[in-house]
Amino acid sequence: MPEGDSIHRVARNLQALVGERLEVETPHPRAAVLNIAERLDGQRLERVEAVGKNLFLRFEGGLTLRSHLRMNGRWRVRPRGEPLRGRPWLLLRSRELEALQWNGPVLELSDSILRRLGPDILERPPRIAAMTYRLLRASGLPLAEALQRQELVAGIGNMWAAEVLWEVRLSPWVPVRDVSDGDLERVLREAHRLMSSALGGSRPARRAYRRAGRPCRRCGAIILSLGQGDANRTAYWCPTCQPPPRSSSSTISST
Ligand SMILES: [Zn+2]
Repeated sequence: MPEGDSIHRVARNLQALVGERLEVETPHPRAAVLNIAERLDGQRLERVEAVGKNLFLRFEGGLTLRSHLRMNGRWRVRPRGEPLRGRPWLLLRSRELEALQWNGPVLELSDSILRRLGPDILERPPRIAAMTYRLLRASGLPLAEALQRQELVAGIGNMWAAEVLWEVRLSPWVPVRDVSDGDLERVLREAHRLMSSALGGSRPARRAYRRAGRPCRRCGAIILSLGQGDANRTAYWCPTCQPPPRSSSSTISST
């Protein structure tokens, strides 16, 4: 699933269409029923911004289109008029470029979700205190799960949660209440640092994410994985560098 850095990259690519009146089409039937083309066709795109995993396209007249890619959605910007294979959900054409949105699955003319999102981890500078305060509201949640709750901190997904916690040597299973404020701030600063650097084009080799069964790059212990939380996302961690919390060490068995 694309995380905040990928969505910020899409926002950056879409800047090339800002300021122009766009031709708007919704070739895919599931998008055609949303009446987006009727409302936006011919309107000037004023601004594109990413907040967490959401993309907001702001048009003149106050309309905002929100896109969320979930697992399979994607955007592409290319020169106008290249042959079209398949049916994108959305096609935005400026004089020279076109932006294609494939597979939806979330397109809506609303930004009401902004009221429910936490601060974006990629904001510059990051609002560390505000994010720490929100995380503390989820004191009973395992740390990796809390980091992925978009209403607490927007933009972090499963991959970055795993990578960041490996870097700071904290277990994904430690309940937020057992993490010091200083450590929470350290986690958030590291997330901001790693994701900003990925947005800037630097993609270091993965340390933990999808490395179950392989040796830790720091200590050689075998990386473990186990489903976590309501969404049963998979947590990845090094049992030596990121020792389990004492209170629950007996309940975590791993694969
Ligand atoms: Zn290790």
